[in-house]
Amino acid sequence: MIYVDNSATTPVSEAALEAMIPCFREQYGNPSAIYGFGQEAKKLLESSRAAVADAIGAKSSEIYFCSGGTESDNWAIYSACERSRGKGRHIVSQAAEHSAVLRALEKMEERGYEVTLLQPDRYGTITPVQLERAMRDDTILVSIMMANNVVGTVLPIESLCETAHSRNALFHTDAVQAAGHIPIDVRELGVDMLSMSAHKFHGPKGAGALFSKIPRIPAPYITGGGQEKGARSGTENIPGIVGMAAALRDAADNMARDSRYVAMLRDALVARVLEIPGAKLTGDPENRLPGHASFVFDTGKDGAHLINMLSEEGICASSGSACSASSTEAPHVLTAMGHGSASRSALRITLSKYNTMDEIHAITQRLPSLVAKLKSRKEASIS
Ligand code: PLP
Repeated sequence: MIYVDNSATTPVSEAALEAMIPCFREQYGNPSAIYGFGQEAKKLLESSRAAVADAIGAKSSEIYFCSGGTESDNWAIYSACERSRGKGRHIVSQAAEHSAVLRALEKMEERGYEVTLLQPDRYGTITPVQLERAMRDDTILVSIMMANNVVGTVLPIESLCETAHSRNALFHTDAVQAAGHIPIDVRELGVDMLSMSAHKFHGPKGAGALFSKIPRIPAPYITGGGQEKGARSGTENIPGIVGMAAALRDAADNMARDSRYVAMLRDALVARVLEIPGAKLTGDPENRLPGHASFVFDTGKDGAHLINMLSEEGICASSGSACSASSTEAPHVLTAMGHGSASRSALRITLSKYNTMDEIHAITQRLPSLVAKLKSRKEASIS
């Protein structure tokens, strides 16, 4: 098998696995218990918090653990609205956000908030000027992702955040695809809230974090025993949290080397794929995640066909979003970027430090004939 769907999820790193195993075997105490065994687990929890904070330039007290990117995004949006009551009811975001943000915003609309969705340009970016035009006196929150999951474009978060702050709005960024892959310093960026998910950077599934520097954010979303300073009740997922911290530390320590390596693989892949007639790179050609390559083809067929053909050859790739493999997120995002009917033919190949140049050769040897075969098929044309 050749696994090139690392934006969907990643294999757990040795560093993360090694750190997690003792949490199942020996250090399985409940961190809320007052006896020493419980307090050992509490120490693991707090040292993990410090490690996650350190990796993004935050303070430990600004890191709140949760179950992953979806919860972190929902939590940030809900909390910002909850804590800005009486200040306004307008939120600005953009059309190419992940559904974890878009669906959370829809929920807020049901509760009487007004949402403006900016349209990204053809590379999938949003400019501060665009944001400035959408800001209103009653705008309480701007939520814009750091890196796009479908096309890999990295957005200008620092200047977007400055624009939001100049109008007294809070700024949240979904950094689920960025964390562990590109440098993040929350102080330099100026963001108020940032979401991340462990399984996107070789940590375990079911662990994530919300950074917040705003007092009383996050607001309690799940109530009960009052863990996470009362903001998220429920016994902490110590193995997951410890694994996330180890994976993030490992990613941060080796980021320069690993991102150079995956970018080298990606550039070789992109150059070969663009030799296929009708193939186009989507997203920003320069300003993109190191391991992210995404394309559209002029096959006139749904991208799922190509993904199934690759799967038959033992290659795991996708169209753009794991949670939408069989739905419409990739086309929706690409249509927003002006790719028209070609949007349905999306192919996303996302690499990790575990991929090799031999795998890139294997993919680029098979892809041209699969695309040609698909083009010549009469059935399954897009209506
Ligand atoms: N945000 C982005 C940009 C994502 O790519 C994803 C997952 O693909 C999520 C949020 C959701 O993260 P999780 O799978 O941890 O819930």
